[in-house]
Amino acid sequence: MHISSAFDSGNIEVLDASDPTDITLAIRPDAGGDHLQWFHFRVSGVRGVPLRMRITNAEAASYPTAWDGYRTATSYDRETWFRCDTAYVDKELVIEHTPEHDTVHFAYFAPYSRERHLDLIADAQVVDGARVEVLGQTVDGRDLELITVGDGPLALWLIARQHPGESMAEWWMEGFLGRLLDHDDALARLLLSRATFYVVPNMNPDGSSRGHLRNNAAGANLNREWHEPTMARSPEVKLVRDRMDATGVDFCLDVHGDEELPYNFISGAEGIAGWTDEMGRLQSGFIDALIAANPDFQQEYGYGISKPGEANMTMCTNQIAQRFGCLAMTLEQPFKDAANHPSPEQGWSPPRAMALGASALNGIAAIIGSLR
Ligand code: ZN
Repeated sequence: MHISSAFDSGNIEVLDASDPTDITLAIRPDAGGDHLQWFHFRVSGVRGVPLRMRITNAEAASYPTAWDGYRTATSYDRETWFRCDTAYVDKELVIEHTPEHDTVHFAYFAPYSRERHLDLIADAQVVDGARVEVLGQTVDGRDLELITVGDGPLALWLIARQHPGESMAEWWMEGFLGRLLDHDDALARLLLSRATFYVVPNMNPDGSSRGHLRNNAAGANLNREWHEPTMARSPEVKLVRDRMDATGVDFCLDVHGDEELPYNFISGAEGIAGWTDEMGRLQSGFIDALIAANPDFQQEYGYGISKPGEANMTMCTNQIAQRFGCLAMTLEQPFKDAANHPSPEQGWSPPRAMALGASALNGIAAIIGSLR
């Protein structure tokens, strides 16, 4: 038996693997040291062997209470991810599985790899009317890419994966772009005639490849950098915010995942000084249309709403809504399952995240006539 995490987005430290029924592991912290929860590793030579693995530092995770009700994403072929028996016991995460094949992958959520990301970017640029641009480089020297498509006067921005462990955010983007760039989809063609879309499918490629939960390579939580981003600490945010200043912004959607809540939901900018009733109407219009388009989405469960003037202006949604006086929202997806529409075998999954991304076109279509 061997346990490896020496690959893209791999993260695990093997403490003791001498007994398959009592393997002890630990999650490696992000750069910066203040976050950990993402894990991704492969166990080989274990066909038919009952495995019991304990992640011994689970209590030190960024959201330890989120382990309750969580089940581990598991795959043999790295395409289909199912969930296996997982329990949070005595401050440790205990994963139990008897593999049907020689090697098996375990991850916090189905990974979205660097290679798949490069395919996503390359596929987009060959679509008529779509452009790909490298905005600049990350701390580790990776390219930060922007996809631009559409002819309309409105500027619609969509970004994802500021928190790299939230891989469902890039699966969402693959579904969104797949529909937006499909010229056989009349709704997509309509939207492209009304607006120009600016899409950043992965805001944090360094953290993604390093196997981080929340930070970039400099140890910055990018969604706490929007007030004063710098090229040294948060070039990913600085590059995107500078471009937003150049294009203007009429709509912004920032796509995330939430460790705790088993629901898809929107979190808005209600706490900013510049919040308006019109922003509230647009947000409700988007939410209602998304619920109608996709039953996996709901708005009954979500975060509390910030009191007026108490918004955290370091976050993308609040900073952009205030800066541009536009509708800006954070979309959260679950790591666990969408409990309003559960699918226990797979939980929340790449196909469901992609379907939700495609459904976002319906939400945008419902309000595009009222965006400025
Ligand atoms: Zn997030």
